[in-house]
Amino acid sequence: MSGILYVVGTPIGNLSDFSPRAIETLQQVDFIAAEDTRVTLKLLNHFEIKKPMVSYHEHNLRERGMMIIRRIQEGESCAVVSDAGMPCISDPGEDLVRLAAENSISAVVIPGPSAAVSALCLSGLSTSRFCFEGFLSTNRHNRQLHLESLKNDPHTLIFYEAPHKLQNTLQDLYKAFGNRRISLARELTKVHEEVLRTDLEGAVAYFQEKAPKGEFVLIVEGAPEQEEKESCTLEEAVAAAKVLAGDGMKPTEAARITASETGFKKSEIYAGMLKE
Ligand code: SAM
Repeated sequence: MSGILYVVGTPIGNLSDFSPRAIETLQQVDFIAAEDTRVTLKLLNHFEIKKPMVSYHEHNLRERGMMIIRRIQEGESCAVVSDAGMPCISDPGEDLVRLAAENSISAVVIPGPSAAVSALCLSGLSTSRFCFEGFLSTNRHNRQLHLESLKNDPHTLIFYEAPHKLQNTLQDLYKAFGNRRISLARELTKVHEEVLRTDLEGAVAYFQEKAPKGEFVLIVEGAPEQEEKESCTLEEAVAAAKVLAGDGMKPTEAARITASETGFKKSEIYAGMLKE
């Protein structure tokens, strides 16, 4: 009988966020695959858990992944954890879950906090549709292509960034998107937790005065919805306004409503209505 792979979320700062179920799982598994065993050892010590660990990080995941899968196939259970937050989210784990699926091994999630969703919830920006973009590439060309591909994306965008690269990234976002609202969540769940809600121009100026410190998540407002407005021609807008006017609405009111729905000017729609 194969064992089980547990994907266990760990705190992003505040150890009280570690759930009883997560503690129980780490106590019960046969071994833990940890991104950095020194970091996880501190967590284990805090909760008085003694468990063998193997290191599992981005530089050894190929050979280590198969070794972990073989042990699970032989009946052992394994918990994969990263340094903080959910494994698999800009952290090792994705590959291991894929390997488990390919080898018909059950994977069970023990959810914990993730900086991305936590920051989104505090942003005050739209949470109904969002897109996680992780870290931007440090390669200039790839970074530009990535930002270019997001320029017209209406979803709220989530980025991770290291403090020493923050100012540069804010400038690149401003260049690519123009001025948009942004919420910067810093040191979530820690003593210096802070949320700065501003716009890209304001954020660039703010961090020119004050060097960024700690861990940041950037939540950027999506592109304004334009598709519907652009997909309608002026003739179609005029026709729609005429329908409203034909139903008894004042022509100026019909032009105003159609203008707000299509993006054309009220005056050009009204002029179109008067032509015939
Ligand atoms: N797997 C993690 C998760 O689920 O949140 C993310 C790991 S990623 C390597 C690390 C990045 O997450 C940091 O550079 C920062 O952008 C963000 N982050 C992690 N902890 C944070 C915190 N307490 N406050 C703000 N951002 C945090």
